Amino acid sequence: MGKRIVIALGGNALGSTLPEQMAAVKKTARAIVDLIEDGNDVVIAHGNGPQVGMIQKAMAELTRAEPDKYIPCPLSVCVAMSQGYIGYDLQNALREELLDRGIHKGVSTVLTQVEVDPEDPAFSNPTKPIGAFMTKAEADQLVAERGYDVVEDAGRGYRRVVASPQPKAIVEIESIRDMVEAGLVVVACGGGGIPVFRTEGHHLKGAAAVIDKDFASCVLAQSLDADALIILTAVEKVAIRYGKPDQQWLDELTPDEAEQYAAAGEFAPGSMLPKVQAAVRFARSGPGRTALITLLEKARDGIAGRTGTRIHA
Ligand code: ADP
Ligand code: MG
Repeated sequence: MGKRIVIALGGNALGSTLPEQMAAVKKTARAIVDLIEDGNDVVIAHGNGPQVGMIQKAMAELTRAEPDKYIPCPLSVCVAMSQGYIGYDLQNALREELLDRGIHKGVSTVLTQVEVDPEDPAFSNPTKPIGAFMTKAEADQLVAERGYDVVEDAGRGYRRVVASPQPKAIVEIESIRDMVEAGLVVVACGGGGIPVFRTEGHHLKGAAAVIDKDFASCVLAQSLDADALIILTAVEKVAIRYGKPDQQWLDELTPDEAEQYAAAGEFAPGSMLPKVQAAVRFARSGPGRTALITLLEKARDGIAGRTGTRIHA
């Protein structure tokens, strides 16, 4: 019996540069089409760290070169551009891999907005570094002129930091659901989604933030009533005492066990912690819901129960 699966792709599925992404999506498409070939419906979400950094830097250079002509590009617009660019490469790679295997299915990318709360405490504590490194003078100027938050990043220079608020709801969820039910392969919530606030009337206003793709994928999986959330990353399993001589890989966890390990500091913030938290949230959100964290190349083995770390009630 086919399942409805939301797949969250990490940085290793896309690479960091244009040529890397072009090559990486071919391998990524093979892993995804394996699941489609097995009869599953898949919806694909992905991160955008290097891509949104690249776009933001290019747009900032444009403003610097011609300040009278080009105003700074809002971060929400940079996220939208990254969804378009990544969706373009993924869509093409998936289309080609499907056709090569004789599977006739449409593939579409949905530019996805994700609602965030203006009162989210993340807005008063921006933590996510984006864009290029700057000198202190450049940083001071941006703070004065644009009210940016800037931090000194590990001795490498100054960087803008932005808020990473929690996703509340997916604005285009009905379109995404209709497309999945029509049998299309959908790419959605790229880069965690374009963060927006609800304002007066029906207006949505872009927020200067980047949503974590693991949390956004969890909301997507819950909203679509998916059977499984698969977070594909650069490790085959989650470990405790990660990187230490007595490291232990984990096969199966209840949400409570995973939470206890998280509270004990077993998972690095900003990398494995959000994945485990997203997996716990999804596993708790309804009966029969399973979250799996594994290596991109192991997606098919993982869903068959042969590898990866599985979190379910
Ligand atoms: P992605 O781009 O897929 O989101 P991240 O780099 O953010 O990838 O997170 C995955 C990384 O988390 C792994 O490559 C690994 O180095 C790191 N990591 C941190 N803590 C753990 C842990 N306890 N178990 C396994 N991996 C961990
Ligand atoms: Mg990550």
